[in-house]
Amino acid sequence: MRALYPGSFDPLTLGHLDLIERGCSLFGDVVVAVLQNPGKTPAFSLERRLNQIRTATNHLNGVEVISFDGLTVQCAREQGVNLILRGLRAMSDFEYELQIAHTNRSLSAEFETVFLATSAHHSFLSSSVVKEVARFGGPVSHMVPEVVADDLARLFNLPFPARMR
Ligand code: ADP
Repeated sequence: MRALYPGSFDPLTLGHLDLIERGCSLFGDVVVAVLQNPGKTPAFSLERRLNQIRTATNHLNGVEVISFDGLTVQCAREQGVNLILRGLRAMSDFEYELQIAHTNRSLSAEFETVFLATSAHHSFLSSSVVKEVARFGGPVSHMVPEVVADDLARLFNLPFPARMR
């Protein structure tokens, strides 16, 4: 089976990576689709985000990393996937995720959305939390892959010791 995992990934966290790894074990192939949202200014360019995910998933077979800028269901159709994969951390995610899943089903009944519960030790992780911690020079090596930790250090001009892991 082939799953589409869409998101902003601004930047990729270990929570995202955990979902990709588990998605691969469950479904075989996972297409990670990075949203290029013209309405939002991301911290990391599309190219950086694609590079982060490609580098961090290098050890996995069956992962493809692409960008998209339209409807998720359109992307799902173009990619020939069987399902859409999303993650759930807390009740606060649930309402939003349910709304998106229902919207996608109303647009195209052919794609089911499958939710994976976050791994408990990643439940606090979000891209925004990671950026907040990094902005003030806090350690992030337990939150993001190495390539992202390096990009965050560069983004926030952290002194060299803060970049050490
Ligand atoms: P979006 O802007 O589309 O919500 P995100 O990059 O924030 O994009 O998240 C993509 C998906 O990954 C969402 O379904 C989100 O719930 C899930 N996700 C994010 N962080 C985690 C985590 N720590 N554990 C499990 N799922 C997560």
